[in-house]
Amino acid sequence: MKTKIILDEDEMPRRWYNIQADLETPLDPPLHPATGKPATPDDLRPIFPMELIRQEMSTQRYIDMPGEVADILRTYRPSPLIRAERLEKALKTPARIFYKWEGGSPAGSHKPNTAIAQAYYNRQEGIERIATETGAGQWGSALALATKFFEMDATVYMVRSSYDQKPYRRVMMEVWGAECIPSPSDRTASGRKIREEYPDTPGSLGIAISEAVEDAATHDNTNYSLGSVLNHVCLHQTVIGEEALAQFASIDSYPDVVIGCVGGGSNFAGISFPFAGEKIRGKKPDTRIIAAEPAACPTLTKGLYTYDFGDVAGLTPMLKMYTLGHTFIPPSIHAGGLRYHGDSPLVSRLVHDGTAEAVAYRQNEVFEAARLFASTEGQIVAPEAAHAVKAAVDVALECRKTGEEKTILFCNSGHGNLDMYSYDEYLHGRLVDYEYPDDLIREALTHLPKTG
Ligand SMILES: *Cc1c(COP(=O)(O)O)cnc(C)c1O
Repeated sequence: MKTKIILDEDEMPRRWYNIQADLETPLDPPLHPATGKPATPDDLRPIFPMELIRQEMSTQRYIDMPGEVADILRTYRPSPLIRAERLEKALKTPARIFYKWEGGSPAGSHKPNTAIAQAYYNRQEGIERIATETGAGQWGSALALATKFFEMDATVYMVRSSYDQKPYRRVMMEVWGAECIPSPSDRTASGRKIREEYPDTPGSLGIAISEAVEDAATHDNTNYSLGSVLNHVCLHQTVIGEEALAQFASIDSYPDVVIGCVGGGSNFAGISFPFAGEKIRGKKPDTRIIAAEPAACPTLTKGLYTYDFGDVAGLTPMLKMYTLGHTFIPPSIHAGGLRYHGDSPLVSRLVHDGTAEAVAYRQNEVFEAARLFASTEGQIVAPEAAHAVKAAVDVALECRKTGEEKTILFCNSGHGNLDMYSYDEYLHGRLVDYEYPDDLIREALTHLPKTG
């Protein structure tokens, strides 16, 4: 059997799969933060282009990818589907393990798949600058790359603690011409207010979101862009799973288990939605779909499925999702991309409906799996992606017990080349091996907004 299943450039899918078409009942709508009524397209117009608002609400099964977007994606796609045979041997499992390798994009993760599409639609509607936030820097660098392709400016509000501790992502953004500002900043009213109250604050993603949204809302030529959670972001990422469907078809195979790590849910959506669609439609009813998250931020495994805000200040629309409460501050584990109190409404819905299941892991077991992966397959994966590796290893070990020859697919969402600090912490036994305590989660859940 082949080790690496490669599609030709012209076999790259030219349309995205929209799972909203296959849900038995429609998704609960976002609610306006002030009125509690369903948010209208007009409510979103000040910060998003019309086409992305349309995609956000669409129930059309496939949405065409514009030619200019496809032309850019083709520089690093289709991404390879790789068989992890040495990992299988090390685990002595009869299972076959495959992964989609998203670490080959210029920014090193799956995030450019949506950043490029979002930059394109904004440019089409005359927008000249995009404001966004970034935690550890993966999203900020993907957006910096994407705006460069369309000759737009990018302003990235980067959480101050990461800005100080992780300079290389900032440098990437600057090489691509973006302006990267430590948040809270004095550029925005919300940033200035926080700085007055807490001059030494390390910042947070919630604060940075408030700054980027305010920047976009107060400048006509500027829109806001989000790297995960929203329906249109999940939509753009389905190029991953659509490619995987074609790759498995080309070797007459189909995965029994599909796995992704979940922060806001976009790479998990990308790999799993095309398979989840076939599961819901009854074509492949038995596919097991697993979302892997950190025990330090256990949104899907311990959160509530209810309406909540997307940010700390409560400025964003309320979304129906699994949430730990918008005031929940996750401990600073190294998988920065997985530290979010909520989750994509679509991913939440699949978990709530039982189409997908969720598991949570502690950091040491996650890094142990990543180290085994590096020792066998070579790639040193991003700490976020390591959660998916751990879930794949667990399923493969179950197969060793039962003797089942399952085919496992996971999304390897990015490389860890800029995450050596966290590997160093792991190797020296300094990782915070934290499981967020139930009583603190219960406390955070008392701050949910009242609706209806
Ligand atoms: C940002 C990021 C994630 C988490 O975000 P999702 O929207 O849940 O995919 C996972 N892996 C990598 C490599 C990331 O950069």
